[in-house]
Amino acid sequence: MIIVKWSVANDIFTIHTIKKFTMFLHIALSVPTISELDYLPCEGLEPSQLRPGMRFLVPLGSRKIIGLLVETTTTTTCPAEKLKSVIKALDSKPVIDSVLFNLCRKAATYYHRSLGEMLFLALPVLLRKHRVIPVNKQCFWTLNKDISAADIRACTKKQQLTIGILQQHNGKASDSTLKEGGIAQKTLNKMAEKNLIFSTDDVMTYNDFRTVQPVINNKPLTLNKEQSVALEEIKKHLQHFFPILLYGVTGSGKTEVYLQAIEEVLIQKKQVLVLVPEIGLTPQMLSRFQRRFNVPVVTLHSGMDDNERYYNWIKAWQLKAGIIISTRSGIFCRLPEPGLIIIDEEHDLSYKQQDGIRYSARDLALLRGQLSNIPVILGSATPSLESVKKANSGHYLMLNLTHRAGGAKMPQFRLIDIRSQPLHAGLSQQVIKSIKQTIDKKQQVLVFINRRGFAPSLICTHCGYVINCQYCDSCMTLHRTPPHLHCHHCDYQQAVPASCPECHAETLNATGTGTERTEMFLQETFPETDVLRIDRDSTRLKNSFNKILDTINSQKPAILVGTQMIAKGHHFPAVTLVIIINLDAGFFNADFRGEEKTAQLLLQVAGRAGRGEVTGQVLLQTYNPDNPDLIMLIQKEYMAFAMHQLSQRQHLHLPPYSYLALFTVDSLCMKTTQGQLKHIAGQIRQHQHNFGPLLKVIGPMPAPMEKRQGRFREQLLFCAEKRSVLHFFLSWFRQQLNNFSHTKQCRWILDIDPQEMI
Ligand code: ADP
Ligand code: ZN
Repeated sequence: MIIVKWSVANDIFTIHTIKKFTMFLHIALSVPTISELDYLPCEGLEPSQLRPGMRFLVPLGSRKIIGLLVETTTTTTCPAEKLKSVIKALDSKPVIDSVLFNLCRKAATYYHRSLGEMLFLALPVLLRKHRVIPVNKQCFWTLNKDISAADIRACTKKQQLTIGILQQHNGKASDSTLKEGGIAQKTLNKMAEKNLIFSTDDVMTYNDFRTVQPVINNKPLTLNKEQSVALEEIKKHLQHFFPILLYGVTGSGKTEVYLQAIEEVLIQKKQVLVLVPEIGLTPQMLSRFQRRFNVPVVTLHSGMDDNERYYNWIKAWQLKAGIIISTRSGIFCRLPEPGLIIIDEEHDLSYKQQDGIRYSARDLALLRGQLSNIPVILGSATPSLESVKKANSGHYLMLNLTHRAGGAKMPQFRLIDIRSQPLHAGLSQQVIKSIKQTIDKKQQVLVFINRRGFAPSLICTHCGYVINCQYCDSCMTLHRTPPHLHCHHCDYQQAVPASCPECHAETLNATGTGTERTEMFLQETFPETDVLRIDRDSTRLKNSFNKILDTINSQKPAILVGTQMIAKGHHFPAVTLVIIINLDAGFFNADFRGEEKTAQLLLQVAGRAGRGEVTGQVLLQTYNPDNPDLIMLIQKEYMAFAMHQLSQRQHLHLPPYSYLALFTVDSLCMKTTQGQLKHIAGQIRQHQHNFGPLLKVIGPMPAPMEKRQGRFREQLLFCAEKRSVLHFFLSWFRQQLNNFSHTKQCRWILDIDPQEMI
């Protein structure tokens, strides 16, 4: 009898032979309540071929679902009469390796989810379903190099014939060659399902990246003093887990440091995972990496279809790709030869998943670095307070780039007091004048407004009625292109009414300013100049963002009007003037992270100014020119502001000096939600003494946006100064949640380390 288990220590399977004759397959399911179940092997299942991480089709009630083998055991707590056998193995090789497996196990514990849920989140969508891998784009089929003689013996005649043809063609043949050889599509699909072969698009014609010279296509820049110091430190720690905070002002050449560190890792024939926030960044980053390196670079992001993502995931797994540039979910990509993880703009909120399993890709990256024993670089001009604290306490090494690279100077700030000043589409007279001067000098201007659409609200000037979303506690945003009202919280859209729905007067007035309004105004004011709007609406179509970027890179005079999409990492050398319309509200946000997030946004937007030869200017319109946060930010560096914020957080026992979990219940009826949460809170209060005085339970209270997407939301906030106290409580709470008498209509969400209280 053979038992299969992960051996964490040396990352290989240990196979124990014991003298027993029963074997159970311990299988993780993607079902929140059942997590893991034991099954009996099915007929013909060869124990020696079982590996943790292989997928199985298994019965659950009347359904057939997919599960992942965790391990095989000789004992089970499941009563014999309830034991069922697996239906069949779907893979001949594990789809998840031991590092990913352990990452998922730890993440499941930390986020209080089931192991199966976490494992299935890690898999590409195509592997979560029992479905034939689609073939629409494939030109070639490649033989999996890892298959053994035993694998081939287990094949059908047709499959062996396919393997024969592939071997004649050096392991790879086109679809049509195989069809000419009498191989049916069905056979190919079956074999792909068993990982005997995989379909390859043209990119797959690449070899194993380790056989390619990582040779630089494009000579690296000569690093300045600070960059060299940073690179040398990084190079000292490439062989083990080592977290580094690369704190470098905007334009200080962090990316150049990454590139040269990556070169080192590629020379060692190891892979690099680069996480970036959201899609906007990937095309620019990708081309910068491709110009530098010979090894294949692949991307993974939500703008791709499931096929594309799957192929790229496979390329990383099959060592076809040396560099993987990815948004949040790439933290789960399979890397057989990991060497380095980089998290660019580590402060960015997009690293926290905001639905489903609310994981933080940044935090998991550190965990992954530890499991793989490789360094992790967190880069930012405005690091999160969490990371600053860790750097201060010596948990991360902080490397500092204080100057802009390549001779560019930091931009100069000017506060524009807009109290009792007339504004045109949000812009003061003084700002409009500066825009004109900048265009006259043939330079580019960037206007930042944190609101898309034409106007954030439509108000009746006769009776004061505001048009609200029928599903959310929020007003409808007016859009002009095309004209409609749009709720940015639930996506509900409706036609623009001609008169007030309340008093029927034709006195509806668009109030406030969004990107469309400012764009229109600026286009009217500067008819000769290109005015480009950059927000989610103008970039919705595939490639439209790239077209806008091309215009910007042409360096012709232009005015860019955009939301925070433009704040992230872009390098626009012709932009010399940045206008920030108004960020006052952010500093007075009810959320305790308001100041931190606003400061980061402000400096990131400002950082787009003057990255070329001409020194940049930032004009910041404000109704509060005396705001001490604002003054500290623009007079001193970000770190001074961060230290000040940290001391306030410490004083108030807020994160990162305490740990939070946010529990939200919602339903279609306010009374139901309130009743349910009151019941749960009552149960908690009865047991709270078990968790000591260090655990605080705040609420029940309505969520800051009480009604959202038609559901009424109430919250409890759990807080402790020790992480262990919070998680000890949460483990108990998570179990109780299954027992609490649930009203069917209620849903609940548990958010560990919530980043946004909404
Ligand atoms: P960051 O990632 O910190 O915002 P980048 O890496 O984009 O900064 O660098 C900003 C600009 O400075 C880029 O145009 C880059 O090519 C240039 N640069 C970076 N390092 C150097 C260097 N050592 N010498 C000259 N130019 C550099
Ligand atoms: Zn809505």
